[in-house]
Amino acid sequence: FFISFEGGDGVGKSTQARLLGDWLAGLTGREVVLTREPGGTDLGKQLRAAVLHGEEMGPRAEALLYAADRAHHVDALIRPALERGAVVVTDRYLDSSVAYQAGGRALAEEEVERLSLWATDGLLPDATVLLDLDAATAAERRAATGESPDRLERAGAEFHQRTREAFLRRAGADPERWVVVDASGSVEDIQAQIRVDVAARLGL
Ligand code: C5P
Repeated sequence: FFISFEGGDGVGKSTQARLLGDWLAGLTGREVVLTREPGGTDLGKQLRAAVLHGEEMGPRAEALLYAADRAHHVDALIRPALERGAVVVTDRYLDSSVAYQAGGRALAEEEVERLSLWATDGLLPDATVLLDLDAATAAERRAATGESPDRLERAGAEFHQRTREAFLRRAGADPERWVVVDASGSVEDIQAQIRVDVAARLGL
């Protein structure tokens, strides 16, 4: 199984991905590979540093760097893991590009989607969990971590609002793949809902 987590910054994707991975390992007895984008591979870590902490760049350069990260992530890590029967849980995948590089940065959505599908040679997750949270609460959570914000997290509230809407639109258009979870509750409640919905999607 291949599962992705999507949503804005500060909604709790990495925590929920880890908890779901632990649960799936126990439930299926399979190896679980927990990974993330950007930065799931060594090359990806270099690309992540360039895109998040490097010089300012235009939206096309940004979209191509994310696509390069994803192409290599799929080739070097995700496909080999799926082929040996592992469950792969990734914190962000191609829907982030459509939401951020198209929804947020105003490239054409179809173009970013085509680029992403080319990069991954068409590999889509079996289930995608959208952790949905209003932009103000997400901003509070980000601030509470005390980490200094990266280049994209400094973007304005409007940017985050547009990316949220883009995620919700994509989820609405493909309910077979997407599970939308209200991320304003407790970690435990959110995880419980994710487990029920993902198990149903995967036929577990
Ligand atoms: O989720 P994580 O904190 O690792 O994401 C790093 C940053 O990259 C975030 O600021 C996120 O908004 C941004 N991002 C992006 N486009 C993507 C993936 C992530 O702008 N395709």
